[in-house]
Formats: sequence, C-alpha cells, structure tokens
Amino acid sequence: MNTMEKYAKYVNTSFVKALDPVVVAKASGSKVMGEDGKVYTDLYAGISVVNAGHCNPEVAEAAKAQIDKLVHCASYVYYAPTVADFAEKLAEVTPGRLQKTFFGNSGAEANETGMRMAKQFTKKQEFIALQGSFHGRSLATLSITGNKGRKRGGGPYIPGVAFHPAPYCYRCPFQMSYPSCDMFCAKYLERTIQFDTSDNVAAFVAETIMGEGGIIVPPKEYLKEIKKILDQYGILLFLDEVQCGFGRSGKLFAVEHYDVEPDIMTMAKGIAAGFPLSACIARPEIADSFKPGDHLSTFGGNPVSCAAAVANLNFMLREKLPEKALAKGKAFMLELKELQKNVPLIGDVRGSGLMVGLELVRDKQKTPAPEEAAKIKASMREKGFLIGVGGTYANVLRLQPPLVISSEELSSAVSALAASFKEVV
Ligand code: PMP
Repeated sequence: MNTMEKYAKYVNTSFVKALDPVVVAKASGSKVMGEDGKVYTDLYAGISVVNAGHCNPEVAEAAKAQIDKLVHCASYVYYAPTVADFAEKLAEVTPGRLQKTFFGNSGAEANETGMRMAKQFTKKQEFIALQGSFHGRSLATLSITGNKGRKRGGGPYIPGVAFHPAPYCYRCPFQMSYPSCDMFCAKYLERTIQFDTSDNVAAFVAETIMGEGGIIVPPKEYLKEIKKILDQYGILLFLDEVQCGFGRSGKLFAVEHYDVEPDIMTMAKGIAAGFPLSACIARPEIADSFKPGDHLSTFGGNPVSCAAAVANLNFMLREKLPEKALAKGKAFMLELKELQKNVPLIGDVRGSGLMVGLELVRDKQKTPAPEEAAKIKASMREKGFLIGVGGTYANVLRLQPPLVISSEELSSAVSALAASFKEVV
C-alpha cells in the first residue's frame, strides 16, 4: 500500500473530504517537495506554522543539540533549562505586563488554559467571543468558536458564551462602512454585555486577526474601543495569537498594530517553526491564580520544542522577519489588488503582513463562491503553488507563506493566480 492508501485505511482524517493529493517528502525554506519529485512554492506554511521557513537550519540545529541532551523529563515536575530560557524571552518580547507562561502542545490547549485562568482570576464564569472565530477543537475551545461548521456534531457546548458581531468590514453585520461607522461594532459590546450575559463575564476572547474565519483584520481603532468597554466592566482582554503571532501579521505579535495591552495571550503555530508547542502568557497576578495542582500538561514545555522556539525567535528577530513580512505583504497585496481589477470573482483583497486573504464572490450581492475557491486551489497546486482556503463560507483563498519567501516568488504566485482565475471563470 502506498501512503495515500494507508491514510484511507488507517488514518482518521475528517477536515476535508479529500486531503490535498501531495505526499510530502521534504521541505526547505519556502519550497515543499512531493514524493514524486514535484517542487511546490508553499503559500500556506503548514497552516501558517513554519514562519521562519521549512526546516530552518538554525532551529533544526538547536533541536538536534537538545535531543542529544534531553528529550523529556516532565517540565512541570522537574526544572528544564530551555523552558526557563524561552519563558524569559517571551516575557521580554510580548507586550505590556505579560510575563508568566504556561506551555502546552497545541493552540487549543493554550486557549483552554487561558479560559480556566481567566475564570480562576476573576471568579467569573462567562465569555464573550466573536462570530466567525476559531479557537480550537476541544470542547471548551469549540464552545467559544463562532462557526457552526466547525461545531457540528459536538454539542451541546459549555454554557455562558455570548457571541459578538465580528469587525468583518467586507460583510459588516450592521451594514455600515468604515470609517463612517465610528466603530459601531466595537461600541455595540455594551449591548452584548447588557443583553447576552448575566453580568458574570471573565473574559472577551478574540483572535487579534481572524485566520480560519477568512483573514479578518479589524480597523486600527477596534481593540482600543473594545478595551475601554471591557475595563468599565472588569472583563479581561484575552487575545488568541495562535495564528497571527510570530511575525505573520508584519509585527512580532498582531496586537502591536493596535496599541492595547492584553491580559492573557495565547500562541502556537509559528512559535517553534513546526515543533509542537503552545504558550499561554498572562500578567503574573493572573497566572498566579493557578494554585499548586491546578494545571499541568505531561508534554507541556517539551525541552526540544523550547530549544527550537528559542532558536526560532532569535532567527526572527535577527533577520527582522516581521518587518520584512510587513513590506513584502504590502507589495504582494498591491499586486493582488491590480489583479482584482480584471477578475470580478475577487470580491476583496485584505490582510496584514503575510496573512493575506482573497474573498471570492459570484456577483455584486457578494454571493460566496466556495466551489470556485476549491478549483483555484487545485489549479494552483497543478501549477506548483500550495495555498489554503478558509472563511465562514469556504470562499477565502488564504495566502500565508513562510515569511522567508522572496518577492520574486510572491510575484510569480500572482501570475499563477491570474492564470488560474482565467481557467476557472
Ligand atoms: N486558535 C486559532 C486562532 C487557530 O487558528 C487555531 C488553529 N487553526 C487554533 C486556535 C487551534 O490550534 P491547534 O490546532 O494547534 O489546537
């Protein structure tokens, strides 16, 4: 049996009907090579993970060195030097007073941790989350995920979650337009608190920039307006930077675009260039609401993942990956906006840094075009480019390459997209 046949028989996959038919043999930088020898330019980065490039040599070397010393000895039972080192670095580079980190293995685990911490600190039980959000596939994180497609078959979910309209300007839930809306969707939070909660809200949880929901970038005033209201009600600001963190948005953390201080922030994906690791960082007084015995993860703070994470962060900062992502993303989006002029199917081009979305629509009424999105993805793959598809209506092409991708590769992706759109429409 070949790999695909073994998958069909023995691997439980469910996200899509069929996986992308690429058996990945190896990868380096922005390139992925299939078992058949075909080379792809990767514009998806393993779902926005290998920001520092596939098999980044510095990260790989740090991990290999750590493997020779220690792979695992339970970092929450004994002290592990790389855990301490990475936690110290995170405290230095994250905004505001964020200081103490709990390490887990996935984005969902980090978000679970943050939810529990928020409850214990505030002694309140409810959450407000955004419509269209995605926070993971555990029971609690699906409970704060605002998308029926992702939640199907798993209910009932935990009670006490109110869903607030997202700052999705292209499809404004209030039929307004920015900036004349005067941030109505943020100000409306007072009403959500008033009418949809029992005045017992621990935290407002949001992806700083929405990923799975279709690359939704809030206007620059959004989070300040939200924070003002949260402060009036003693509600924590809990930002999920699992996808938009680690340089992806053009800043090390997307919250740096918004000039607010989160109380809790979660990270995963780009944290260690592909090694499994997640982090939930909080102000010390919030982190210390966990009492001895409250929280643990056997694999959490794996020494190899933490050694990789230190090397990954050093590489990102030294190579100025966030700044470069910002500049490359701007040029990329300009080219895509040019393309949009000739392709009516592209309803919207949006993004921040190298977190870019093309929302495909069939007509002026913005009827979502999910079938076309799937066809473009397949056509791009044939042309040697890997891209993602997301959004509430599965009609957003997601372009989230490794941040080390070259400007030339990005331009050739735009040319390939132009050809694919010609084939599909
Ligand atoms: N939060 C966000 C914003 C995500 O994009 C994801 C994964 N796509 C998660 C949480 C869940 O992360 P994981 O799959 O590592 O549990």
